[in-house]
Amino acid sequence: MISPALENDLKASIRSIPDYPKPGILFHDITTLLGDPRAFRRAIDELVQPWAGMKIDKVAGIEARGFIIGGAVAHQVSAGFVPIRKKGKLPHKRVSIAYSLEYGLDEMEMHADAVQAHERVVLVDDLIATGGTAEGAVKLLRQLGAEVLAACFIIDLPDLGGADKLRRLDVPVRTLVQFEGD
Ligand code: AMP
Repeated sequence: MISPALENDLKASIRSIPDYPKPGILFHDITTLLGDPRAFRRAIDELVQPWAGMKIDKVAGIEARGFIIGGAVAHQVSAGFVPIRKKGKLPHKRVSIAYSLEYGLDEMEMHADAVQAHERVVLVDDLIATGGTAEGAVKLLRQLGAEVLAACFIIDLPDLGGADKLRRLDVPVRTLVQFEGD
């Protein structure tokens, strides 16, 4: 948990846009948080706080906003960075997994040599909703034998159950702000 004051400050730095990208979706836009130097730094510091001082080999970020946050987190904890990308974007030998979206399935990929067996990996994205995307990423990392230490997100939409889904997979979850009722 973070302090209510910090949660309020971070929430105030996030812009929420109704009916984007389609009617009925409230889109939580973190570009305003990223553009605010103080909010960006505090969000990164807080995300990794429970694992400060632990050995982390790699931070894996989910395309695309997870690259921005994950890159900053990796720098902060002196870890390497691993991109998890949509199908067809990575040039070298890949592993892939299908994952569920709101409607239907998609595929995500990682380079097969991006993590080694037993490496300690923290997974990062901007937001967890249903957890389908993050669940796919956890399974992909575990396919390569990685130990998923934790998954970190700036925003949790608790009503959609994604954080609980990851906890059921034995992945500790860290989130900073919650938007209820989405
Ligand atoms: P999910 O797989 O349902 O947990 O969806 C998480 C992914 O979709 C993350 O990569 C988010 O960036 C994106 N996402 C889902 N819902 C929203 C939302 N309401 N606002 C912004 N991004 C979202």
